Amino acid sequence: MKIDPYVNVDAGTMNPVEHGEVFVLSDGLETDQDLGNYERFLNMDLPSVNYMTTGSIYLSVIAKERALEYKGKNVEVVPDIPNAVIEQIDRAVAKANADAVVVEVGGTLGEYQNILFLEAYRILKTRNPKSSVFVLVSYLPIQNGGELKSKPTQYAIRTANSAGIQPDFIIARAAVPIDRMRKEKIAFNCGIRPQDVISAPDVESIYEIPLNFEKDGLSDSLLEKLNLPKGSRDMKEWTTFVNKVKNAKKTVKVAIVGKYFSAGNFVLTDAYISVIEAVKQACAWQGFKPEFTWLDSSDFEGKGAGARLKELQKQDGVIVPGGFGTRAIEGKINVVQYCRENKIPYLGLCYGMQLMVVEYARHVAGLKGAHTTEVDEKTGHPVIDIMPEQKEILKGNNFGATMRLGNYPAKIKKGTVAYAAYKKESVVERHRHRYEVNPEYIEQIEKAGLVFSAASPDRRLMEMAELPKSKHPFFLGTQAHPELISRPLDPHPLFMAFIKASGAKNR
Ligand code: GLN
Repeated sequence: MKIDPYVNVDAGTMNPVEHGEVFVLSDGLETDQDLGNYERFLNMDLPSVNYMTTGSIYLSVIAKERALEYKGKNVEVVPDIPNAVIEQIDRAVAKANADAVVVEVGGTLGEYQNILFLEAYRILKTRNPKSSVFVLVSYLPIQNGGELKSKPTQYAIRTANSAGIQPDFIIARAAVPIDRMRKEKIAFNCGIRPQDVISAPDVESIYEIPLNFEKDGLSDSLLEKLNLPKGSRDMKEWTTFVNKVKNAKKTVKVAIVGKYFSAGNFVLTDAYISVIEAVKQACAWQGFKPEFTWLDSSDFEGKGAGARLKELQKQDGVIVPGGFGTRAIEGKINVVQYCRENKIPYLGLCYGMQLMVVEYARHVAGLKGAHTTEVDEKTGHPVIDIMPEQKEILKGNNFGATMRLGNYPAKIKKGTVAYAAYKKESVVERHRHRYEVNPEYIEQIEKAGLVFSAASPDRRLMEMAELPKSKHPFFLGTQAHPELISRPLDPHPLFMAFIKASGAKNR
C-alpha cells in the first residue's frame, strides 16, 4: 500500500513534471508511480484499496459525516482521520492474498503533512504489537569520499520516537554498502540490533535490491519479528532476470520523445518511469543494454527542427509516450513523420498512437490540416476526436477520475504486427484517455495503408494502428498504456517486438 500525503484525491490531476508518472491500476484508479514499482516487483495487479491520500481519507470521512454515520458525534481530526486510515489498511489486508502487507508512507519524517499517518501507525502497533513492524528508510550521506554520516539517521529516529514510533529496521540507503562497524554504531545510537540495519547501496539495476536485502537477511528477520513461520524462498527466476540485465552486451539506442522532462536545471525522467522500465525489461530478455536519449518534442518544431530530426538517424528506435494538451505537439508529429519515412522503428503510446494517425492522415491520406480536437477544435479533419461520453463529463468541469481508465479488452486482427507480438486475439490493456480515433475517418485512413490492427470488441474504438511489415520494420501505436503492465518476469509483447525490431541492425 502507498499513502501519499498530498490533498489531491488521486494523482490523476497532477502535472507529471510535478509528481512524475500517473500510474493507472487495473480497476482504473490513478495513483502515484510507486504503485507501478510495487506491481513490477510483486508481479501482481494491486487493487485501488492499496492507495490513499490525505485528500481521499478526508473525503471519505466527510462523506461518512454527511451520511450521518457518526451518529451525531463530534468528528475530529484525531482520532477519526487515523481511524479512517487504519480502516482502509484493514480493508486492504483483508483483500490481499498475502501473509504480510507493506504500507509505505510517502514523504519524510518530520514533515507536517504525514503526521496523522504516523499516528495511525502508532495506534496500529499498539493494537497489533506482535504483527506490525516499522521500517525506517534513511539516507546516509558520504561527504567528498570521506566518512559515512549517521547523524541524520539518528535525528530521524528521534523524530520517529517523538511520534511514538520505534523503528524495528533501518534500511540504510547510501552510495556504498554499510560495513559491520558502521552498522554497530547506527544500531547503538538508534536502539536497534546491528543485524537489523540493512544495507541498501546504490545499484546498477533497481531489480538487484531484493537480492541485496537477502544478503543482509532482511526477510528472515522480518519473519521472526512478525511471528511468521520461516518460509522457503525461491529467488531463482528473479536472479536469472537480474543476471540478464547485468550481462547484456549489445546496445540498443532508444529515444523517448516527451515534454515532461525539464524541471529547472535538471532533466527528470520520472514522468516516463514505466516506459523506461518496460524498455529495460524487454532489452534484458533479448540480451540488450538500452541506451536512452531523452528528447524534448519542442526541439522538433520551429527553427532548427530539420537538423534535429536528422539526428534521429542515430537512434535504433523511437517512442512517443502518452501526453496531454497542445504544447509541443507539432514536434511530436514531425518525429512520427521522420520515423515513418526513414523506417526507424516507432512505438506510439496513447497520444503517440493518436499523433501517428494524425500524421498519416495529413501526409499520406491527403487529409490536409487533419488534427486531434484536443489541439485544434476547429480542424477540418478531426481524425482524433473526444469520445461522446467524455464531452458530457467535461461540461461540468469534472476532470478528476473521469477519463476512460483502467482495464479494457481489445480484439487483435490476425496476420498483423500486433498479432505477431501478442500471439493471441483477445488482450486486456490499461487505458487513460479522453480522445479516440474518429470512426468517420477509419475507412479513408485504412485505404491509404494504415492498418487498425486492434479494436474494442464492439469495434467502436480503435485500439492499435500499424504499418504492415512489408512497408516498415516497426511502426505501431496503441491507444492503451502497455508499459503499465510490463513486468521484469513478464515483459510486454509490444515492447519485446519493438526492441527486437530496433535491435535488428542493417534494417
Ligand atoms: N491526451 C490524449 C487523450 O486524452 C492521450 C492521453 C494519453 O496519452 N494518456 O486521449
